[in-house]
Amino acid sequence: MQEKIQGFPLSPQQKHLWLLQQGSNVYISQCAILIEGDLKVETLQEALHKVIARNEILRTTFYRPHGLKIPIQVIETNISIFLTEKILGDKCSQETEIEALLGEIREQYANNLQEKQLLRVELIKFSSEKYILVVNLPSLCADSITLKNLVNEISLYYTAYLQNTELNEEPLQYADIATWQNELLEAEETKIRKKYWEQIDVSALDSLKLPFENCLSEKSEFEPQLVQLVISSNLLSKIEETAQKNQISIDIFFLTCWQILLWHLTGKSHLIIGVGCDGRNYEELKAALGLFAKFLPLACNLQANYTFSDTLIQANNLVSEILEWQDSFNWDTFNKINTDNIEQSFFPFCFSFGETVTNNYSDNIKFSIYQHCVCFDRFKLKLSCVRTQNDLVKLEFYYNAKLFQKEDIQRLANQWQTLLISILDNPSKEISQLNLLSEQEREQLLVTFNNTKTYELQYKCIYHWFEQQCDRTPDNVAVVYENQKLTYQELNTRANQLAHYLQQLGVKPDVIVGICVERSPLMLIGILGILKAGGAYVPIEPSYPLERKDFILNDSQMSVLLTQQHLIADLERKEIQVICIDNDWQVINQQKIENPTTTTTELNLAYVIYTSGSTGKPKGTLIPHQGLVNYLSWCTKTYAVEQGVGTLVHSPLGFDLTITSLLSPLLVGRTVELLSEEQGIESLSQALAKSSNLSLVKITPAHLDLLKQQLSKEEVANKTRAFIIGGENLLAESITFWQDVAPDTILVNEYGPTETVVGCCIYQVPIGKHASGSIPIGKPITNTQLYILDQYLQPVPMGVTGELHIGGLGLARGYLNQPELTALKFIPNPFSRKEGDRLYKTGDLVRHLSTGDIEYIGRIDNQVKIRGFRVELGEIEAAINQHPSVSACVVIVREDKPGSQTLIAYITLHPEQTLTISKLRRFLQNKLLDHMVPTVFMILEALPLTSNGKVDRQALLIPDTVRPELEVAYVMPQTEVENAIASVWQKL
Ligand code: AMP
Ligand code: MG
Repeated sequence: MQEKIQGFPLSPQQKHLWLLQQGSNVYISQCAILIEGDLKVETLQEALHKVIARNEILRTTFYRPHGLKIPIQVIETNISIFLTEKILGDKCSQETEIEALLGEIREQYANNLQEKQLLRVELIKFSSEKYILVVNLPSLCADSITLKNLVNEISLYYTAYLQNTELNEEPLQYADIATWQNELLEAEETKIRKKYWEQIDVSALDSLKLPFENCLSEKSEFEPQLVQLVISSNLLSKIEETAQKNQISIDIFFLTCWQILLWHLTGKSHLIIGVGCDGRNYEELKAALGLFAKFLPLACNLQANYTFSDTLIQANNLVSEILEWQDSFNWDTFNKINTDNIEQSFFPFCFSFGETVTNNYSDNIKFSIYQHCVCFDRFKLKLSCVRTQNDLVKLEFYYNAKLFQKEDIQRLANQWQTLLISILDNPSKEISQLNLLSEQEREQLLVTFNNTKTYELQYKCIYHWFEQQCDRTPDNVAVVYENQKLTYQELNTRANQLAHYLQQLGVKPDVIVGICVERSPLMLIGILGILKAGGAYVPIEPSYPLERKDFILNDSQMSVLLTQQHLIADLERKEIQVICIDNDWQVINQQKIENPTTTTTELNLAYVIYTSGSTGKPKGTLIPHQGLVNYLSWCTKTYAVEQGVGTLVHSPLGFDLTITSLLSPLLVGRTVELLSEEQGIESLSQALAKSSNLSLVKITPAHLDLLKQQLSKEEVANKTRAFIIGGENLLAESITFWQDVAPDTILVNEYGPTETVVGCCIYQVPIGKHASGSIPIGKPITNTQLYILDQYLQPVPMGVTGELHIGGLGLARGYLNQPELTALKFIPNPFSRKEGDRLYKTGDLVRHLSTGDIEYIGRIDNQVKIRGFRVELGEIEAAINQHPSVSACVVIVREDKPGSQTLIAYITLHPEQTLTISKLRRFLQNKLLDHMVPTVFMILEALPLTSNGKVDRQALLIPDTVRPELEVAYVMPQTEVENAIASVWQKL
């Protein structure tokens, strides 16, 4: 016959822990009781037996009937403890040795948890007057207060035995309390009380992440470790003073500091913090043994303009609230909402505050807690504050070592301390203004990482450099295009003739000259001619739509334009002198061939490049020579351009990344091969297949992916010394192929906005290091400073996302004719002592990795990249809005496959209007660059709005999540919109 096992249900805390622990052996409670005095070991053993006999929880085991997930607790009638003394001697009583020994005992215990008897006790003898009694229990049976109560009981019974007295009081048994707690949770009145917890949005828990969290770690792994910090009594008295002024207790003070630190580090205003409570809010429970402690969710909302006191008051109120409702809190409430994750239910960030207990004396013998450790719940990071009897506060930062490195938590602990001092110095400051960074960390972020100034620029203007190179290598081939070739001398001579001609037309420093010439040697002669005349070129691509050409011609107020005869039709204006560089060559050819002289300095303009503008109009970025020379000095050297044969140019002049391949070879005597515009990327793959030992190929990630599809493996190796990849976020997936088949080709991720000249930050991708995700953008180039700042222009801590601000020689003068926008985007540099130094606000969100490299995260605004081209969605929307039938529109970009973006326009029409998509498309093709014309158009009855009346892009971005109430607003039913998008997708 099967034995009948009688048991009791688990308490709610036990049940939560049981589901969480899943075979893990970290959830144990250990107490090291220091016994000083003349100890009678047999008496201690008697006392222990008495304590065990009195308290069922010390005799409890767990039994899981077949088919059930949750066990029952079974109480053994009798267990015996036999105390053997482990004699270590006084020599071994050093703190670190005891620590190690306790750790060993804990580990041994943890590894033998399957044994039936769960309570295990060991006695260590250091001398006849000094012992440590180590008590081990699973956390299912004991929390911190239990251990304290246990020491109390042991010392009481020890004394009672010695004095031969009887202690009669019957304790409350845990199984009874558990039953009562379970009943209480089911009670009708608790249902109402549970509402308090139900309104907490636990979905936020998943997104609570700290910098440097290892996302790859196995979800279930938990390995708690700790970093400690001590708050001196001096600081503590200041804390007490501030706490008193605000009429709160110091635990709330510490909790508030913790909230503020987490707010800064996570960047989330809605935080949920598990706040430890002892679960003994009835007098009767105070002395009971068992697991009562739990973490209660404290859901707080912090705003940048809150002061410390505001936050303190909020925390104080919330803590009173959660303590008031604590009985009705149960993980089941949340798990009902989030059923697929029961085993993983825990609060990522926790907080607890406690005080060390007083000693127990008993007839010349002292029992005190030497050390205790309890792990009754899981966390990612927990701050546990312990106030000691000598008026210090020990801060213990417990972290899951599977998620964090020790040095990252050490840094966090230091930030906590810096924050604390900042709070004590300025309690009325807004929390966003409080300082987290130690002097040392600040120095590292602002100075060490930016220590890039290495040399003075050798040339003032880029053409001086080119001219010197022509003197050095006059007969080298400078440029190749189809079957045309020009040597350095030939190229220089022609550029000189053009320059003299332009000077006669009034070109001089800071005079802008348009250039609308197809990719060919004439284009290069044109650029060099303009620069040598002392002026600045502004590219106008022949393929630009009419309105764009028109805009640039007007906006730049150019007086001279270079073009070719067959392109002239769109460009003639009466106020502009148009030169056809082909047809007019005979006249130009009359000019002198010597290098012209100019008064141009490094601060005069070299070029103006128009980029997409959010207000609907492109904006011209004004780049002085200094920035261009700085970039090219750095680039020719770092990419060792001289060591290859030269470069291929396949990208448009209006795209600043072209500068790398177009100009760098010409400064070191190498050849630039211009590829025909007609075949697009194919011309690049064909040219690459024929080449060998190219200096570099400059390319966007999108083009790199295309190139891969067009070349066989054999065609790839040893073609180019380097791919310089820039223009948009680079993913590891884009580079693995190249690292496999062309391991000798260096891959460089180059980052840089047009406003700071081509590239200002690079990362050479090491082989085999990145298998997935974003490739870092690395470190600043020479004479460049990169600052990652919050919205108050304060540096953010390592790992925290902020906006990238760029300073240094590369900075543009600003935007042409746009003083307000210039002032907005080019701000005074708060970290420079040099007057007039500025920073460019990139709008790019980035963070520092622990290596000091920078990682690109995304954009602050609606600027996107389409195949490497920079696009402001606002510019497209403005163009669509110009159509008479359109009443409103919003354009979004969808990226279903990484790197392949599609623009979708959602449009509403004026009443009674209709719209033919093909007509609309043609309308837009006249205004926008090709890659800016949306691929998909959706006509809607209304656009989804957010609560504050703005268009809700998020609702459009992922049609799967379009809220049901919007469905009726679509002209097409929602499902059809989705199907339509899906089918377009398949075609793309
Ligand atoms: P553009 O002015 O066309 O060079 O575009 C500059 C913008 O492109 C930057 O502000 C970034 O948003 C993006 N960008 C350029 N290079 C990179 C890169 N290597 N990684 C990530 N984003 C990049
Ligand atoms: Mg760029």
